[in-house]
Amino acid sequence: MTQASAIMPCPTCRREVALSGAARPATFPFCSPRCRTSDLAAWADGSHVIAGTPLSFDAYADDPGIDQMMDQMMDQVMDQKTDRS
Ligand SMILES: [Zn+2]
Repeated sequence: MTQASAIMPCPTCRREVALSGAARPATFPFCSPRCRTSDLAAWADGSHVIAGTPLSFDAYADDPGIDQMMDQMMDQVMDQKTDRS
């Protein structure tokens, strides 16, 4: 009964994970390898925002056409807004 100590919820499945001691899993802060993998997968498919977006944007950063396209898209959006209001 020495380890009624700190726990936290697994980021993936909310199961209780020990913060310290022998009960702390090697996959900490995840409760299991499966939860760790599914969190990585969430990053990869864009469920978590940061990972993919800047990369794909950088790929087009040197293309001047993308700026024109963005401008046109913004114009369209602004037009739609003014039409509706
Ligand atoms: Zn879990």
